[in-house]
Amino acid sequence: MDLKAPVETIKNVGEKRKELLNKVGIYTVRDLIEYIPRDYADRSRLTPLCDVKEGEEYTVRAKMKKKPEMTARGRVVVVRGIINDGTGEAVAVWFNRGYLRNTFDMSKEYYFTGVFENRMGRLTLTSPDFEEVRESEAINAGRIVPVYHLTKKLNQKLLRKLIYDCLESIEGDIEEFMPYSVRRRYGLCGRAYALKNIHFPESRDAFFAARRRLVFEELFILRLRLLNIKKGIKKQYTGLEFSFFETDRIIGRFPFRLTSGQEEALEEIIEDMSQKHPMNRLIQGDVGSGKTAVAQVCAYIAYINGAQTAVMAPTDVLATQHYISFCELFEGMGISVVLLKGSMSAKEKRETKRLIADGEAHIVIGTHTLIQSDVVFKELGLVITDEQHRFGVNQRGLLTAKGTNPHTLIMSATPIPRTLGLILYGDLDITTIKTMPAGRKKIDTSFVDSSYHERIYNFIYKHVKQGRQAYIVCPVIEENDKTELKSVKEYFRSLEGTPLRELNTAIVHGRMKAEEKQRAMDDFAAGKTDVLVATTVIEVGINVANANIMLIENAERYGLSQLHQLRGRVGRGEHQSYCILVSDKKDKTVRDRLKTMVKSADGFELSEKDLMLRGPGEFFGVRQHGLPELKIANLYKDMDILREADDCVSHIEELSAEEYGAIIKRIGEIYDFDNKNVTF
Ligand code: ADP
Ligand code: MG
Repeated sequence: MDLKAPVETIKNVGEKRKELLNKVGIYTVRDLIEYIPRDYADRSRLTPLCDVKEGEEYTVRAKMKKKPEMTARGRVVVVRGIINDGTGEAVAVWFNRGYLRNTFDMSKEYYFTGVFENRMGRLTLTSPDFEEVRESEAINAGRIVPVYHLTKKLNQKLLRKLIYDCLESIEGDIEEFMPYSVRRRYGLCGRAYALKNIHFPESRDAFFAARRRLVFEELFILRLRLLNIKKGIKKQYTGLEFSFFETDRIIGRFPFRLTSGQEEALEEIIEDMSQKHPMNRLIQGDVGSGKTAVAQVCAYIAYINGAQTAVMAPTDVLATQHYISFCELFEGMGISVVLLKGSMSAKEKRETKRLIADGEAHIVIGTHTLIQSDVVFKELGLVITDEQHRFGVNQRGLLTAKGTNPHTLIMSATPIPRTLGLILYGDLDITTIKTMPAGRKKIDTSFVDSSYHERIYNFIYKHVKQGRQAYIVCPVIEENDKTELKSVKEYFRSLEGTPLRELNTAIVHGRMKAEEKQRAMDDFAAGKTDVLVATTVIEVGINVANANIMLIENAERYGLSQLHQLRGRVGRGEHQSYCILVSDKKDKTVRDRLKTMVKSADGFELSEKDLMLRGPGEFFGVRQHGLPELKIANLYKDMDILREADDCVSHIEELSAEEYGAIIKRIGEIYDFDNKNVTF
């Protein structure tokens, strides 16, 4: 049977069922057999009725003692029967399923599964699942049974039956594409066995073997594909070849000497940019490690090679900040820097776009507005994206498409654990800046409860009187009856009752208009405000060297990586800085997490811990994270298998052409592209 055939070609699937299956994403026979259960119920153990306890689920094997009775209770039809297995009896009840009255054959045995209760002194099973005991294998009982994600009108029993029958009829058509040598090396069972046992495991061990095989396969293919994208990029040619790399003029303008980490990053980048094919590199570096300076040198290199640079930042505030910092650096050099952001007037935007299209703008800084189709570049040679994981992977591609294979540089301050990086950045070369600018003092971090507020305010007061500034972060904007979380607005008002009332305080949060937000940030940067009460909008990009206190309320609300980002807003100048985490939660995991912050200043260490504690979904927050959707693998639980799959990919050259061909064919099936176009 052709696995690519539409699902309605299999037995028992007509128009109606086809539509139901389509709803859960099953279109072809292959989709059906690769529809992975979300869970399993272990019904392999049968319990004699005499051993059944109330309140628990069991599967029993029993006969219907006599034809069930049917009664009507108001509009509800009730079918009641007595089941008996020779060791005991129980009542089975169903509602509004009158037809069940005639379903049972009193001479046959059935599996009944459900929760047993005591009703009016009798052991009772309400709406149990049942299935006739047959010579052949049972589907819904007497075994470990699959539990699928459903949609209305599609029930477990139906889906189980369709998948079961389908697997039976096509077993011989399931192709093995993993070479024998690979399967041996990594201990992987065959594909047909894996698919059968992921749905209907013969035993627990069979399930684990099946899952391992399918997880490996999924991660292996994903890694291989990313690697091939990377190789594919290396085969493309940049429209613009860079040949000038004299950077003294720009580096001499920095008020500091580059750190060794920044220098090494630049060396790697220059090596990349001197090639004929485009650079595709990620610079990872902890908050404050000086990635912007590296980006600025790169933009300068693009300029002296006659190319435009686009710098894309995730927020207006960050884009503006970059704009200011680029303008300062390039001032008086004849290099034109422009800003394009959503909040500009239509006229301003039009004018800016003209400058970009004419090539008069050399460096273009903006938010995602840069990827809109009416932004046309004359000679885009370098694309820099900041804080990459906030953009989807696709957005990355859209901006690149505006040039003829421009060089791409991605900057991320969120250190990604290596395992996740393999997936998220598997198509990129990676540079890590490990050094911090000299003279940075360690941020003094403490973790306290609310009883410390008075002391904290006095502490802030004292520092502000010495000329410093402080941030206070609250988790929500407005107060809300449902939670006791601190809100920016309420908190701001409550400062009236503290020594901070004498200081200049201001608020900033995501629901303010862009200009208001900008003004609040500008005033803080200019030293006009002493204390800024904010939501996490200040998480990225704010750079006020004079601020030295970061107070985080309801610190339990944040993951380690996010706390680390927030903390990174201070410690940017010569002053000793402080981060104060406030939480009244007694929860041990919360306390441990916050204590980790006190102990560690290393973003990588914190992100590994975060991933361990919270899993990848949480790790990236609710924002679009750019992780591919996986059918079965779990990037957190299956890290070990990911490592093995990665190892396997790195030995791919050892396979024969025929073996490799089979794998490529499978990739083609998954990613739905024409095999002929696969160039790798
Ligand atoms: P991030 O890597 O978080 O983007 P930035 O590029 O914003 O870091 O740099 C943080 C601060 O450190 C900025 O104020 C910048 O001017 C400063 N800085 C960058 N490089 C150096 C250096 N080599 N020596 C001293 N200060 C530096
Ligand atoms: Mg930065």
